Amino acid sequence: MDSIIDYFSTIPSSHRTLILVGGLTVFWLIESAVPLFRFDYRKWKHAKVNIFFTLTTIVINFSMAFILVKTSEYVVVNKIGLLYIIDMPIWVFLIVGVMLMDLISAWFIHWLEHQVRWMWRFHLVHHTDQHIDTTSANRHHPGESVFRFVFTTLAVIIIGAPMWMVFLYQTMSVVLTQFNHANVMMPKWLDNMLGVVFCTPDIHRIHHHYRLPYTNTNYGNIFSIWDRIFGTYAMVDNSKLVYGVDTHMDSNEVHDIGTILKIPFKKYRGSLIYEQEEKL
Ligand SMILES: [Zn+2]
Repeated sequence: MDSIIDYFSTIPSSHRTLILVGGLTVFWLIESAVPLFRFDYRKWKHAKVNIFFTLTTIVINFSMAFILVKTSEYVVVNKIGLLYIIDMPIWVFLIVGVMLMDLISAWFIHWLEHQVRWMWRFHLVHHTDQHIDTTSANRHHPGESVFRFVFTTLAVIIIGAPMWMVFLYQTMSVVLTQFNHANVMMPKWLDNMLGVVFCTPDIHRIHHHYRLPYTNTNYGNIFSIWDRIFGTYAMVDNSKLVYGVDTHMDSNEVHDIGTILKIPFKKYRGSLIYEQEEKL
């Protein structure tokens, strides 16, 4: 346990980069070998747009990281946060901390992005991808990356998370999100088994269906339990899914970086901003 804490206390940026690139490569290879959907697309061209948005996310997180470090130092020294209410063994502290980080800085902000209209304008960029694969994981508009960062900082304050916990959580988050966006055909029994605790590809894909009510289900990032607890869990046959957002199905609009960047600032008339309902 101590070695995990030691490692993540001082994890070099180069290791974090290696994990991100390594994860992307591994899932890319697996989804090329055993894909769920045989997309008629140019994988590298599709990846270029998503990797651009992954890079903007990295730049934003990196340039503001000092805020996270300072906040974490402050809450730990002053013992502010939920983790200090009761004394617990270090392994319980680690598990509870990572779970609460996932709840606040991933599940809750994601749920909020689907409820608040101006936030949805930014988040829908993530949903405009019509070919979900592992590169879709970090397709976030820079505006969204900023408010996700704000909620990560907020989570650190509420929980009282030390920096090693934040790094551990972020590492798990990167790998899990690459995993659950991967266009991989996994044995159903394996998906079902992992899905009891974690967000698997079969679970997360449903969130990328182009119409409600499925877009507003399965918000989870690492743990699937939050959707089960808050009643937003859904399971449907993945072969029926259509990826995208029905308000933005024009392929010219969703493949060009410049056009995508402007999506949140476009004028929308009434219902044109939100999707139709359609039960599968
Ligand atoms: Zn979403």
